[in-house]
Amino acid sequence: MARSTPPANEKLRHYEVLTRVSRVINSSLEPATVLDLVLREAVELMKATSGSLVLIDPHTQLLEIEVAIGLSDEARQLKLAIGRGVTGWVAKTGQPLRLADVSTDPRYISVRNDIRSELAVPLLLEGQLIGVLNVDSTRQNAFSQAEEDLLVALANQAAQVIHNSWLYEAVAHNARKLEALFHVAQSINSSLNLEDVLKRVTAAACRLMETKVCSLMLLNADRDQLELRACHGASADYLSKPPLPVSESIIGSVVRRRKPIQVYNVQHHDAYQHIELARQDGLVSLLSVPLEFGEQVIGALSVYSATPYRYSTQDMKILSTLASLAAVAITNAQAHEKVVQAEEQLRQAERLGTLGLLAAEVAHEIRNPLTVMQMLFHSLELKFPATDPRARDAEIVAEKMEHLNKIVERLLSYARSNEPSFQPVDLNALLNDVLMLTRRKLQQQRVELVTDLAGHLPALKADRGQLEQACLNLILNAAEAMPAGGQLSITTGVRAPGTVVVTFRDTGVGMTPEQQARLFEPFLTTKAHGTGLGLAIVYKIIVDAHQGRIEVESAPRQGTAFHILLPADGAP
Ligand code: ADP
Ligand code: MG
Repeated sequence: MARSTPPANEKLRHYEVLTRVSRVINSSLEPATVLDLVLREAVELMKATSGSLVLIDPHTQLLEIEVAIGLSDEARQLKLAIGRGVTGWVAKTGQPLRLADVSTDPRYISVRNDIRSELAVPLLLEGQLIGVLNVDSTRQNAFSQAEEDLLVALANQAAQVIHNSWLYEAVAHNARKLEALFHVAQSINSSLNLEDVLKRVTAAACRLMETKVCSLMLLNADRDQLELRACHGASADYLSKPPLPVSESIIGSVVRRRKPIQVYNVQHHDAYQHIELARQDGLVSLLSVPLEFGEQVIGALSVYSATPYRYSTQDMKILSTLASLAAVAITNAQAHEKVVQAEEQLRQAERLGTLGLLAAEVAHEIRNPLTVMQMLFHSLELKFPATDPRARDAEIVAEKMEHLNKIVERLLSYARSNEPSFQPVDLNALLNDVLMLTRRKLQQQRVELVTDLAGHLPALKADRGQLEQACLNLILNAAEAMPAGGQLSITTGVRAPGTVVVTFRDTGVGMTPEQQARLFEPFLTTKAHGTGLGLAIVYKIIVDAHQGRIEVESAPRQGTAFHILLPADGAP
């Protein structure tokens, strides 16, 4: 086709038009608006009857009409493969195509009966085709070479503007996601309840990823399986999904390889374990990322879409970021649960220890009178004739006393098997261990803890378990004496050579001299749920078992101090 050089005034007009169009299409950063403006300008500029802007779908590689003017809704649905029709030809060759009479060209696919001529130009971005811009007319030979040149120039500009709007949208999208992630981080870290954290994570994943279902599985390393712990958006059936073997499941491989995996359609994937459930719940595309905390992998976080979808690198990044936030929150909550459990065990141990000591005490008190009763009974030599019912009664009394004796012996031998075993004990380390377990209770009660532990403290010769129990009793008593908060200070030091002292000083309710006088008697308590055994046991442990001493300083509303004095290891 011969081209004549356009006259100078036409060039000028061409330039002016482009400048104006450029201003219009650059007036928005919103992709849909930009496409709309581009087509509107093209149709108007070309005085066309109708027009369409077509983009390549990067997944399907089909040409899809994004915006159209003067086309029926049905015609807009047309999707062309690259190479088919006028649009497909332009997309394939990257060349413009101008048909003066569409009826004579075999490439033309009619979408509107009255169209006579067409002009189609490629949308090229750095040589790469992103789409095609079409204009049509009911007149034959409606478009000139000059108009073709103008539309090509407009298309070049438009491609750049469209691209910019996509970039802008991607940035804006990321900014929104980042902000959402930030809120999620705050939300999931604001709870220490594991179930609660898991629920929040799955709900957040669905929202962030705009997907149908999210599931969170935690690794049970002992059993080598993944257990479903939380799920958002799925049916009740899904929630009762059995555990997955780590070695032979898709999500298991995420945990094994510590890498994300995506499956385009789990309903057609052989390795997917619960295809029936997936079909029932309409789960399609899966993206699963590992939950990692430091070196440890603790499970997997997975999202499912309701329609086929290819997750982008960006999607993967977002889900992975959420997963690492989640792993921290989960590990935190798990650690917290362990502390709560340990505290509960400790309380249980205290109760059992108390009962054990009490039982031994009671057994001891019963044994002596029982021995006397048995002796006296036998010396009575009650001999009744066999026909006298009292003969049977006397037999029963003797049997029952023997039974009681056995029970008492058993209790005493149990107590003896729990005799203290003395070993060198570092008192400071022991206190730190006990404080680890009571720290939360003190915090809850708004008790400020101040410790001043002496360096180079001589070791004690003591039964560690018993000494722990005594310290625990004193700390709990101090906390209970400060129901509205206060300060507990614990100090260690050396009193006289060979005597180690630990002081528990509180700012609590204090005691009257009368209370102090009977402090170590069992069953004396001022508390609604007290046992009154705590200090009796402290006394047994410190004074009886360890040859130590207890000093008390106290006055009502002035707080209380307990000084526990213990002989150092090797002291005479
Ligand atoms: P319980 O704690 O079950 O009441 P204890 O033998 O441990 O039994 O304590 C007996 C009583 O001694 C308590 O009920 C309380 O009245 C008093 N008591 C113990 N320690 C303190 C303290 N640090 N401050 C004030 N009173 C205390
Ligand atoms: Mg107590």
